[in-house]
Amino acid sequence: MRIGELLKTKRTLSFEFFPPKTDSARLSLGKAVGELEALSPDFVSITYGAGGSDRQRTADVVGWMRSETSIEAMPHLTCQGHTRDEVARLLVDYRRRGVKNLLALGGDAPLDGTIGKSDYHYALDLIHDVAASSSFSIGVAAHPEVHPRSPSRDDDRRHLAAKLRLADFAITQFFFDVEHYLRLVDELSALGIDKPILPGIMPVTNKAQIGRMAQMSGAELPAWLIERLDRVEDPEHVRRLGIEVATQLGNDLLEAGAPGLHLYTLNRASTAKEVVANLHLSTV
Ligand code: FAD
Repeated sequence: MRIGELLKTKRTLSFEFFPPKTDSARLSLGKAVGELEALSPDFVSITYGAGGSDRQRTADVVGWMRSETSIEAMPHLTCQGHTRDEVARLLVDYRRRGVKNLLALGGDAPLDGTIGKSDYHYALDLIHDVAASSSFSIGVAAHPEVHPRSPSRDDDRRHLAAKLRLADFAITQFFFDVEHYLRLVDELSALGIDKPILPGIMPVTNKAQIGRMAQMSGAELPAWLIERLDRVEDPEHVRRLGIEVATQLGNDLLEAGAPGLHLYTLNRASTAKEVVANLHLSTV
């Protein structure tokens, strides 16, 4: 099933997972996937690391999901540290496994600087190569609050529009105010782009972790959220607040006409399940 085609017929529900590194993490992922499969997501996406073994893990998780579950699994693919030959081989492998969708990304060099030779500079270069094979429905990354490396908002939107002219849909970085999403959609529309933009929702489950992730991704923790988080300490109370905030955001996005919702799970099912239940998303 090609996600680009599916989005023409319905609103989608999807989840993001990352490839586990240890046996116990593999067990947790298996449990989370089992629980979330019961919600009949339209697809899930599997992140891609910059290191060599991380890369194989993405293909392994996708292969496992294709053989052991009913879920459509979309691998992420980043262009940093990849040669054109490596990408060509990977695309052949994914085609052979029956993969129909790819999230084509720039990626970030790992903090330790260990990264292989890159034939690519930007995600757009990778998208050209993936589109040439015409085997995949292509998704791209969008940054509602502007990518941290973009010199200006206009530059950011211009480069995103160029990606979306070739791709079928975008998935956004997480954000907490619906206005960021609405402004992004309006700005793309002004550039002649009306491809589906799936908002990414990250329910807060841990105060320190969300602060770190927001800083790395260029997302803002708004004052109203910091204020509410400051008033809770107990981890379960933090999680409950995260569910409430994610539910409200999901509701606002659906009311505003978002073409679906993409939930970042961090490989845990319980929080995502509660958000989906609150939003009655089985009828999406
Ligand atoms: P690009 O589109 O290449 O953009 C990167 C920067 O370059 C932007 O500032 C853009 O405006 C600028 N730019 C683009 N084209 C040009 C040009 N021609 N000239 C000058 N500037 C240009 N990272 C991972 O490592 N693994 C993952 O699995 C992963 N999954 C993600 C999933 C989602 C939904 C999102 C939103 C992000 C994900 N990321 C992942 C993070 C992403 O790889 C980083 O944010 C990365 O820095 C940018 O990726 P991009 O695809 O937006 O890159």
